[in-house]
Amino acid sequence: MRASFRLGRIAGVPVGVNWSVLVIFLLIAWGLSASQFPRAYPDRPVIAYWLAGLAAAVVFFLGLLAHEVSHSVVAKRNGIEVEGITLWLFGGVSELKGEARDPGAELRIAGVGPLVSLLIGLFFGAIAVLLTLAGVHGLLLGALAWLAGINILLAIFNVLPAAPLDGGRLLRAAVWKATGDRTRASVVAARAGWVLGAVLIGLGLWQFLVGAGVGGLWLALIGWFLIGAAGMEERQARMGSALRGIRVADVMTPQPQTAAGTMTVADFVDHYLFAYRHSALPLTEEGRPVGLVTLDRVRHIPADRRASTTLAEVACRADELVLARPDEELTDLLPRLSECADGRALVVTDQGLVGIVSPSDISRAVQRGSLREQPTGAQSRGK
Ligand SMILES: [Zn+2]
Repeated sequence: MRASFRLGRIAGVPVGVNWSVLVIFLLIAWGLSASQFPRAYPDRPVIAYWLAGLAAAVVFFLGLLAHEVSHSVVAKRNGIEVEGITLWLFGGVSELKGEARDPGAELRIAGVGPLVSLLIGLFFGAIAVLLTLAGVHGLLLGALAWLAGINILLAIFNVLPAAPLDGGRLLRAAVWKATGDRTRASVVAARAGWVLGAVLIGLGLWQFLVGAGVGGLWLALIGWFLIGAAGMEERQARMGSALRGIRVADVMTPQPQTAAGTMTVADFVDHYLFAYRHSALPLTEEGRPVGLVTLDRVRHIPADRRASTTLAEVACRADELVLARPDEELTDLLPRLSECADGRALVVTDQGLVGIVSPSDISRAVQRGSLREQPTGAQSRGK
């Protein structure tokens, strides 16, 4: 999920929002201000409903943020870097750069989020009870009671044992702990996600048909999202399993042909592309990579300008290059591959450029890996 706006950093983690969060924010604020609050507390000024509705929606999103921040903080404590937190249509996502090393870490990282939501819900619930005992009634109480309910509901929904929900990660941790097989655990959690998605779609459509309104469609939409995300998790788990233990040096093309940035595009097209089978050419200075030219990047240069354009002008610049070490695990490299280099990475050591990894190298490795005999039981736990 791409953030449309950056809000800043919390606990060292970049926090952003996707524009789609506005949709759900307005739906919540509107639902409370125009319908729920006026029904429960009639005859107040319209502005009071809107103030209470907007305030409740803002606090709800702060709660979502606290939920995600707790995932990130615990992930960092367990040695996993966090790319960032993004709030969007279906709540929040924490993007972790890597996977939990053991079931215990998985359990802690996944479990803390729903726990935080539950505590927030109980906190607002307790205040609401105290206010009621003190004889306070009205909009403030309504907003607090709604916040208590929605946060507890959020905690319960999130522990449903189905990927990609937190409960899916808890299920994965449990199956992983029981069988010692991380891939199998991921597949079980992903399948459960598929089932939950299908149930939500069925339930949502049924609610819509019997006249419960837009709420049913919303449920179906969440179900549809769950099915897509669960399918992706299963594919990723299988790919990660196929590639486990394979290092960059095992798949790279060693000692690729290189050129200087001063070479013209015309020379590249006439002499290089046809002479070698690779369609990417690293640019080097004294053995160090300073750029990468790919077929896609020269395609846009009109034929009459090829003789006057240098490769340095069309190449991916040094700061856009994806660099890897030969002894690095391929699964650690995959998330870093970028569009600029057409999914390619340059392999470097202290001595300079030693290889290049292309998307076809990676897909060959996946195919080979999936043919390997699948390890079973505790052996697959790895390092
Ligand atoms: Zn969560």
